[in-house]
Amino acid sequence: MALFTSDNVTGACPEVMDALIKANSGVASSYGNDKWSSNLQKKFSEIFETNVIIFPATSGTASNSLALSVLSPVFGKIYCHELSHINTDECGAPEFFTGGAKLIPMRGPDGKITAKEFSESIRGTGNVHLTQPAVISITQSCETGTVYQLEEISAISEIAHAQGLKVHMDGARFANAVASLNVSPAEMTWKSGIDVLSFGGTKNGCLAAEAIVFFKPELVGNFPYLHKRSGHLISKMRFVSAQLKAYLSNDVWLRNARHANTMASLLSKGLAAVPDIKLVHPTQANEIFVSLPNPIVKHLNDKGYEVNHDELDGKAARFVAAWNTEEKDIDKLLKTIAKK
Ligand SMILES: *Cc1c(COP(=O)(O)O)cnc(C)c1O
Repeated sequence: MALFTSDNVTGACPEVMDALIKANSGVASSYGNDKWSSNLQKKFSEIFETNVIIFPATSGTASNSLALSVLSPVFGKIYCHELSHINTDECGAPEFFTGGAKLIPMRGPDGKITAKEFSESIRGTGNVHLTQPAVISITQSCETGTVYQLEEISAISEIAHAQGLKVHMDGARFANAVASLNVSPAEMTWKSGIDVLSFGGTKNGCLAAEAIVFFKPELVGNFPYLHKRSGHLISKMRFVSAQLKAYLSNDVWLRNARHANTMASLLSKGLAAVPDIKLVHPTQANEIFVSLPNPIVKHLNDKGYEVNHDELDGKAARFVAAWNTEEKDIDKLLKTIAKK
């Protein structure tokens, strides 16, 4: 049956699987010295319309933590939203990888940091008793299923850069946000002041492929050593690179994301039309958050849907549409709810 618990319950899309099969024939140099990996720098640079430097990784937690570890000193402050994945879902990996940097959670509406709140939170620069403002991390699309508008990103980056902070974007669902805003990847990142991006592929059609993307070569610094030291300089790198290359070719990533967003919008409307169900955040990408009465949760779970009604601040149930969600599965879910 179809599950809506996350977009990582899916398999990989056919284009990615075909690329893996092709990459599997013959031998190739290890640790990224293969043709798939070297072509990838060019591919990402084309997509982002500027020369970027990228490093593949196999989990979003590793991408985020590694990116933060090169952007923050061990005594740094990393500003984030209190609902952010780095604050709630990574078991202290950002603190561990940075060697003890301090996360500073903020509480803007709908899971998004506001420029005002951020600006008012920056404190302690130059005071030896305090951790030092170093990075702000925003998630796009964010943990509540909403997206930052370009002006919101720029406003945050301007404040950060004016005070010497770096700007990181957690893009576990980057493609869904690009598709939702209908802007270019460049506009949503470096043109809006993003310094380093955790680019996600796994949730939107890859098997296990992420990348840390640097928009400023001077920020790479010691990153190759941090990357290796963390165990993410993968010896058979060609397989991660082949996934990313196929994912970024022929608009596969955007097609997958557009489909997921369209299905989420359909499901969101269907759920919101049920009298007892309320959206707790607007649906702007592929995640839907609703307040769901307990009898409906129980009914759905009796039917095998594995609904967790304890998401975010513990008050929401989440439904996620993916690259391969089918309309008939949405109909089936809505009919199951209607029968309660
Ligand atoms: C899924 C996700 C990640 C990455 O998670 P991993 O399980 O480590 O791959 C990072 N950020 C956000 C917002 C996510 O939803």
